[in-house]
Amino acid sequence: MSSVFGPYAKDDEYGSRAVNPMELYHNQVTRVQEGFSLRMFHRSFGLTLIQANVEAPCTLLDFPTRERFIEELRENDYDVIGIGAIIANIGKVNRMCELIRQYQPQALIVLGGHIASKDNLADLVDTDVIVRGDGIRWFRGFLGEDEQAAIRHPAVLSCFNARIMGVDIGHNPKGTAAILIPSVGCPVGCNFCSTSALFGGKGNFVNFFETGDELFAVMCRIAEELKIRSFFVLDENFLLHRKRALRLLELMEEHHKEWTLSVFSSARVLNSYTMEQLVGLGVGWVWMGLEGENSAYRKLDGVDTKALVERLQSHGIRVLGSSIIGLEGHTPENMAALTDYAVSHNTVFHQFMLYTPNPGTPLYDEVRGEGALLPEAEFPLADAHGQYRFSYRHKHIPPGMEEQFLLAAFRRDFAVNGPSLFRLIRVLLRGWQRYQDQPPGRIRRRFAREVFPLRSTYAGAIWAMRKRYRNQPELAAKMDALLQDIYATFGWLTRLLAPPIGLFAHWSLAHEEARLAKGWTYEPASLCEKNAAALALEGAKAEAPAQSQKKAVRVSGNPAPALDGSA
Ligand code: SF4
Repeated sequence: MSSVFGPYAKDDEYGSRAVNPMELYHNQVTRVQEGFSLRMFHRSFGLTLIQANVEAPCTLLDFPTRERFIEELRENDYDVIGIGAIIANIGKVNRMCELIRQYQPQALIVLGGHIASKDNLADLVDTDVIVRGDGIRWFRGFLGEDEQAAIRHPAVLSCFNARIMGVDIGHNPKGTAAILIPSVGCPVGCNFCSTSALFGGKGNFVNFFETGDELFAVMCRIAEELKIRSFFVLDENFLLHRKRALRLLELMEEHHKEWTLSVFSSARVLNSYTMEQLVGLGVGWVWMGLEGENSAYRKLDGVDTKALVERLQSHGIRVLGSSIIGLEGHTPENMAALTDYAVSHNTVFHQFMLYTPNPGTPLYDEVRGEGALLPEAEFPLADAHGQYRFSYRHKHIPPGMEEQFLLAAFRRDFAVNGPSLFRLIRVLLRGWQRYQDQPPGRIRRRFAREVFPLRSTYAGAIWAMRKRYRNQPELAAKMDALLQDIYATFGWLTRLLAPPIGLFAHWSLAHEEARLAKGWTYEPASLCEKNAAALALEGAKAEAPAQSQKKAVRVSGNPAPALDGSA
């Protein structure tokens, strides 16, 4: 299995776009924050999950270069080659399929991920099978393995090569979260939501772990294996599965687990938990859809999102708010006010995305039904990533203006609220100030762990920011107030450490911004991982005579019909 080949953060003939790098935060959350942008790479989680759940020998290439992908095709024989991709990367998928046909004509090509939602995909790329939705079940069925077997969750760190202010912050695996995928899909079924649509849309989802007990056992194993204490929970609406979440809370309490969970959750669901429950569950970071003022989404019904964000952040929970540019009622005249409303939430992070009818979603059917979709000659699929252009004629916003509104929203958020790192440190401090006097126990230990960097490195970062913003009095005053608060909380040692660390951070930030200005970009390292069967096979191949090697890599199983699309 493979993700599409790099490099990613550049315009090229395969449809890579400089504006669409393989970095979640820099792509769509902190994209205008220059040297303060959070730079990191996340794994292709779907592929890691499938690989861990097949018995057959399986090699995974994550972020290969084109040359590395060709090398793999030249040097090893495969029966099945799976590619996971999003629609914007269709040009690369096409080239990969051509290369597979050239070097391994016997291989069956299986295509999955969000690209599988694209209508007429089979006409656009030379694939044999298109799998829409649950790839584990499809592969198990195809390979003749037990489709109902329990899911084996891989132990994988969620990100790598993390940097901010030019400083490499990704050295310590203990400071990184592990991925945890309890379910995929979301039954709420918002009209634009590709992930919900990919796993069945409204009313549907796929549970990999039904109970809190199962999930707890998996988390214990991963924590032990990777020596981590935090989880990036890749579940579109983790808290919606209330019974499972509350059982997990009971078990965490019973076993004194001080884990931190980063979760995705809709506002109404979040509001249905008490703060005690959220803090008890270790929720330290939430990605929440704010969508837009007066948007008619049921998940926001009756929720004062500003009050909710303030409540969460006052308990140390970092909020990533997500707003949409270009909802039905958005016009050039009301965009500034709508942006101000979004920015006034003062979330730690803020994602802005264009309202995009992705194939497979109800919104796509609606826009297509209205005849408003742009033909591919006018709108290349490579631009279908939500950070550049509308893929359709918007009722009120003239073509070309959407990117200006999008960038204006990011810039306004950055100008008014300052760097996300500043906001994050402030929220961490608020959490500690609230919980530092709690009796010793897992809650206090978690807060103490999370706030630990404020005693030195984060204090230094704020010192550097205050210096950086010295000519912008409003922001400089905010930085200064936070720094004084940090000093008052942590004392003289922090006061001594902050200036030298801050000087280094200030220099590093300037250095980083100078090289970004010259066009510097980051690319993820290529990874190659083999499952246990593939490793055993490799060992056997090393010992066996050359003649027997080809036979050994064959996997058994009968071709199964595609879940969606066709051979
Ligand atoms: S609540 Fe969030 S995850 Fe669920 S369907 Fe709506 S946008 Fe998607």
